[in-house]
Amino acid sequence: MKQIIYNLLSNAVKFTEDGGKVGLSASRDETSLTITVWDTGIGIPENKKHLLFQPFQLIDSSLARRHEGTGLGLVLTKKLVEMHHGRITFESVEGQGTKFIIVLPSTVGMTGRAGDERKTLPEPSNSKDLIQGKKILIVEDNKLNMLLASDYLMARGAIVSEAFDGVSAIAKASAENPDLILMDIQMPGLDGFEVLNRLKMNPVTEKVPLIAMTALAMKGDQQKCLDCGFDDYISKPVNLDEMVEKIAFQLLKGCPQ
Ligand code: MN
Repeated sequence: MKQIIYNLLSNAVKFTEDGGKVGLSASRDETSLTITVWDTGIGIPENKKHLLFQPFQLIDSSLARRHEGTGLGLVLTKKLVEMHHGRITFESVEGQGTKFIIVLPSTVGMTGRAGDERKTLPEPSNSKDLIQGKKILIVEDNKLNMLLASDYLMARGAIVSEAFDGVSAIAKASAENPDLILMDIQMPGLDGFEVLNRLKMNPVTEKVPLIAMTALAMKGDQQKCLDCGFDDYISKPVNLDEMVEKIAFQLLKGCPQ
């Protein structure tokens, strides 16, 4: 489910220019759960609509070219929805926006476990206190990923600084002296590994804990992250609570007892 929503939101952001809007809503009744992801983006031309769930179709290549992506996102999304016995449809007007609608049978993950819903998740120990007031630099070229991570950390009291590429990451790291750096690996220009190397060569930044954020598909990269000197890694799409836990762990490790 997380992957489905992530894919649709990523697309919504990808195909919506600055100043546009994207939205997510959900509702449920006796029989179904409906999730809607909409945007005010470029929309889908009438003559391309039949191609939408076909592999390797990038509807607007000029906009899509500026973003990573294989053209498989919607195909996989549809497969995932169908694996949950749901269906996905869309409505779109070229130049005005697109709306994706997912309808899932409400038996999925809901009925027969009503008691579970009241069970509160264990409070992530004192990780909230640990990141309160800490300076965290997020290095990430993807706007949506940046927004998710930085919103979440700020809501937990961290002082967040953002760098959208490797060069500004290095500049901000030495100027701002963060308590921790969260670092995307795949970035245009300097990638996460190169940024790491340069931070480790600078006495001002060499000791700052570094957590890599790597795509789930890149299994080999995760071990490579640790081998190269990252203190830990988080797989994408990022589980935000796991992110906070891992940040807290690194900050605690660095605290003199
Ligand atoms: Mn990236």
